[in-house]
Amino acid sequence: NMFPTDDPDWVKDMHADHYLQSWSPQGNRPRVITGAQGSWFWDSDGKRYLDFQSQLVNANLGHQHPKIVQAIKDQADKLCYIGPAMGSDVRSELAALMVDITPSDITSTFFTTGGAAANEMAVRLARHYTGRHKIIARYRSYHGATGGTLSLTGDPRHHLTRADMPGVVRMLDPYLYRLPTGHTDPANCPVAKGGPHLEELLMYEDPNTVAAVILEPVVGTNGIIVPPDGYMQSIRETCSKYGILLIADEVMAGFGRTGKWFAVDHWGVTPDILTSAKGINSGYVPLGTMSVTTEIHDWLRTRALPGGLTYAGHPLACASGVAAIRAMQDEDTLTHATKMGHLLRAELSKLAERHPSVGDIRGLGMFNGIELVKDRTTKEPLVPFAAKGEAAKPMSDMMAFAMNEGLYLSFFSNVIRLTPPLNISEEDLLHGLSILDRTLEIADAAR
Ligand code: PLP
Repeated sequence: NMFPTDDPDWVKDMHADHYLQSWSPQGNRPRVITGAQGSWFWDSDGKRYLDFQSQLVNANLGHQHPKIVQAIKDQADKLCYIGPAMGSDVRSELAALMVDITPSDITSTFFTTGGAAANEMAVRLARHYTGRHKIIARYRSYHGATGGTLSLTGDPRHHLTRADMPGVVRMLDPYLYRLPTGHTDPANCPVAKGGPHLEELLMYEDPNTVAAVILEPVVGTNGIIVPPDGYMQSIRETCSKYGILLIADEVMAGFGRTGKWFAVDHWGVTPDILTSAKGINSGYVPLGTMSVTTEIHDWLRTRALPGGLTYAGHPLACASGVAAIRAMQDEDTLTHATKMGHLLRAELSKLAERHPSVGDIRGLGMFNGIELVKDRTTKEPLVPFAAKGEAAKPMSDMMAFAMNEGLYLSFFSNVIRLTPPLNISEEDLLHGLSILDRTLEIADAAR
């Protein structure tokens, strides 16, 4: 009674009928992916795709990096699992490596199975540590799909919770291309400056009720929003002034995505809690992190950590994390990502000259977005915010066209996200951009 798993049609049927797919109506018969290497993956028809998304912005070192694969194999041979309270060489090694690469005050880490679990833990810990309950989160954000983290999430998916976690207060984003109504100058806009906007909210909320501010230092899913210089510092200062913890959600922005280990490094800001996942091991084994300052760690020496997981510090995950970080160090991935990021944005500027639908290009390192508009003067978005189905057609048509041409892209609202592997070659990058050039004609025609 063997299943015909090498028959792509059978795989598609089972996917459609028996596998529940994330965030989607069910019944999808997907492409069946049979292999991947570096920046490329391919399907059961032998068609190859250049991965300009790094899957879910996690395959930072591309697919099947030999050092990570080998580390997982070696660890599987040695010890697949041991409970979270036991000592383990790879667990301690990854904890020590995290001290090296996170901002200097951050010195200890709880390992989870992904980003949402890391953010849940961060929020609960912040509430225990401060004795306060409110959490301030931004609109253009995604923090995970668990009850608490989906409540923190500002994008329309938070409506799916049906009953939000209490205590979430919403803050506006430093979205320079679309400043709040009436503002044209970021230097005079409280929202773009950060601290002044936060302080205004705190006046109404009462700072003594606010445990933490959680934000993505560079917004990922919700459209690649890079704050102006000074924003993160200003939020940091305001948090410190009122004894509010700053939680940096670096699940997408971390591990070299912006060209530095963590996005906060661009502004020299140390959060009280830093969460990560995804790029830590290129996604080969589920892994997330919640790291805290020495001050919080010391506080925890006499109090129990308010949470735990069966798979906290899973040896296979830790081994893959160690291998990925060491590979990034050995291969100088951050330098390459920075260089490729500059090249990417220079090429995007050329595309912007040719395509009237391009309203804004922005990004940091290999974390980039193109915002599409009907009209550059009015900035009317090519499709409405969070458009779906027919309303999002120009965007979905572009994704389908690119896929057909062998380029895997993604979008949110009217923004195309470009997040290739950090170690992509210049040749592959330019190849992808040439397909993107043709893809943008669809946007030009849809204006
Ligand atoms: N936070 C951010 C910024 C993310 O981008 C994501 C996932 O896309 C998450 C949290 C949730 O991570 P996970 O899906 O691993 O739970």
